[in-house]
Amino acid sequence: MEQKERIIFHIDVNSAFLSWESVYRLSQDPDALDLRTIPSAVGGDQKSRHGIILAKSTPAKKYGVTTGEPVAQALRKCPDLVLVPSRFEFYSQCSDALIHLLEEYTPDIEQFSIDEAFLDMTSTIHLFGDPMETARKIRERIREELHFTVNVGIASNKLLAKMASDFEKPDRCHTLWNSEIPRKMWPLPVRDLFFVGGSAQKRMESIGIHTIGDLAHCDPQILKAHLGEKYAAQIYRYANGIDDDPVAPPEVLNKGYGNRTTLSRDVDDYDTACQVLLSLCETIGIRLRKAHVQCNCICVELRDYNFRNLSHQLTLAYPTDSTTIIYENACKLLRDFWDLTPVRLIGVRTSHISTEDYCQLSLFQNQKNEKLERMDRAIDSIREKFGVDSIKRASFLKEDSIVDHAAGKSKHLNAYKK
Ligand SMILES: [Mg+2]
Repeated sequence: MEQKERIIFHIDVNSAFLSWESVYRLSQDPDALDLRTIPSAVGGDQKSRHGIILAKSTPAKKYGVTTGEPVAQALRKCPDLVLVPSRFEFYSQCSDALIHLLEEYTPDIEQFSIDEAFLDMTSTIHLFGDPMETARKIRERIREELHFTVNVGIASNKLLAKMASDFEKPDRCHTLWNSEIPRKMWPLPVRDLFFVGGSAQKRMESIGIHTIGDLAHCDPQILKAHLGEKYAAQIYRYANGIDDDPVAPPEVLNKGYGNRTTLSRDVDDYDTACQVLLSLCETIGIRLRKAHVQCNCICVELRDYNFRNLSHQLTLAYPTDSTTIIYENACKLLRDFWDLTPVRLIGVRTSHISTEDYCQLSLFQNQKNEKLERMDRAIDSIREKFGVDSIKRASFLKEDSIVDHAAGKSKHLNAYKK
């Protein structure tokens, strides 16, 4: 059966935090200065976030101020930049109001980040009419009822809809149908492609890939050699406008054991990220072994500085409760899908939990694994007696370690006596 072409909308709030901050200030004082009309930025918590720009006004953008850059750098570009602290609780109310309004248009809605949502309009568009006209009405309603503006991208899949909403801003609708890819998407710099960060961009430029079109037409084998198999395959598909990902609410957390941590600063290197993973895996391993269960699936989650969530998972050859095996696979996953875009949250989840009784011992389970198991159990018994901190991996002895050696232990390890 031939599949009907999908109609996907991507809704993206323009300068979300800054607009919402402005909406708040105007709601308190109708004569307040509208931050959207001057060079201004929401600067996050200056202390613990190292003062990163979370959102900037359109006038600030004209000075070259970018989201995610250090406040100090932004001030060098634009000395008169008005900086305001964030007000997350109110922003989250604005976000809820937006989703609430969008739910009138389709039940197939996926909130992608605090200020972005995908709508699958395929089965409801006939109720509203032409896609472009419908998007225009949604945009107007948001402006009039919620007092901020959005861009709407319209396409046949999520990737293209997201690319389209990023075209000219603010308060605009754009289409990016498949036939429009060569004209509208391929001339753009490769950095503009979703999922391509600064580090991947540099590596691609070194092999002569500058535009999304260059990427779409490159030799996938060469790309794989430079960027890793999975990541290369993914961005190659994206550059060609291919994306089958359904619009779906985020998966309800699997029954499983997981742990995540918000970092005291953005992390943009593998060594630090892997140390955070180790700390998370440490507590997960302890909990699995304590419950006498094993996991067969490991998922790594990241949230970047812009509140975008990314996750990747893999299924193991056989179930495990070993901290080391979970950790090694988590690191592997991370290298597969992270392009070093700064992240503020890292998490690990395990699922497909089975009890030890039902575990089929793999023929391939070798001596190394038996050794790891014995080591885990020895460490567990020492900790059981003397407390979680009684034994630490050497990599956590550094003074500047970003995480505790067993993240989340106070919450999850209260079974352990101190
Ligand atoms: Mg936005």
